[in-house]
Amino acid sequence: MVFFMLLALIGFVASVVVHAESWGPRPLDINQTWPLHVGIFVVFIPMILGQKRGPGPTGKRVQRTSNFPNAPEWMNMLLSICGAYAVINLLLGVILLIGFTPDLKQRDGRYVIEKNRTFIRAATAEEVRVYRSRSGRVFSGHWMLFYWASLTGLIDARRRATLQQADRDRAFVPAGRYMHTPPRLSLWAHSTMLTLATVVCFFGVPLVVCIGLMMLLDRLLPKPTILNIIPVLALPLSALFAARIPPRLLRRIPARCPVCDGRAYYQGGTFYGSNTPLPYRCIDCGEITDASDN
Ligand SMILES: [Zn+2]
Repeated sequence: MVFFMLLALIGFVASVVVHAESWGPRPLDINQTWPLHVGIFVVFIPMILGQKRGPGPTGKRVQRTSNFPNAPEWMNMLLSICGAYAVINLLLGVILLIGFTPDLKQRDGRYVIEKNRTFIRAATAEEVRVYRSRSGRVFSGHWMLFYWASLTGLIDARRRATLQQADRDRAFVPAGRYMHTPPRLSLWAHSTMLTLATVVCFFGVPLVVCIGLMMLLDRLLPKPTILNIIPVLALPLSALFAARIPPRLLRRIPARCPVCDGRAYYQGGTFYGSNTPLPYRCIDCGEITDASDN
């Protein structure tokens, strides 16, 4: 979890830098900053999974005054500010981009102005600056929000987990605890690995298969034939096949049972989306925990 927190913090700082640059004289192009776009999903998915785990601490009711009641107040406040700012920024940005910005296209690394797909003239430096700064500003405004929300949510989940552990320790009957070395992976770490690995396999494997087949066909068949459709057909098939690999592998690795610190194994099938149940059964105490809700 600390790893994702660090990633979210770095992403947030980088987004702020990109956003600040978009107001300056030399804004960054969206092509230089796309890793930040991908990074959002890398930290946002673990945050959502962390939020879905376990009921709130028993005993005293936590007053839900914010989205992340266990995170520090100032983080929640900054999150609200980021949210409001992102909405205003998006509205203004879209109006400016659609109504008042020349429609630049990139051709061979240069910016040009086109009309009905025909070349009119090369864009001036000022037009490039305006275009880059306005598009960059819209995106980075949202990146800031998502990274900050991820960081706040992760810290919230970690603090809540600590509170819950303290609750369990107080209530626990020592005889029931698993006596050997508990598995290293927590339920959260295990279900996060499962989700991310499935997403990577679902998109990555078909890409590799498709490109490989295209290169092979290119070499074998000099002229395009009906066989060139094979890579396209292989795309969905390999995606469905690849998505089944991570659950099969991770089924063999136990996660730490939240009740007894014993070995909890993943019982579910392929992960299809945030509503897929992620049941784990502990072979030491028999407890079944769903890592996806509660
Ligand atoms: Zn157990």
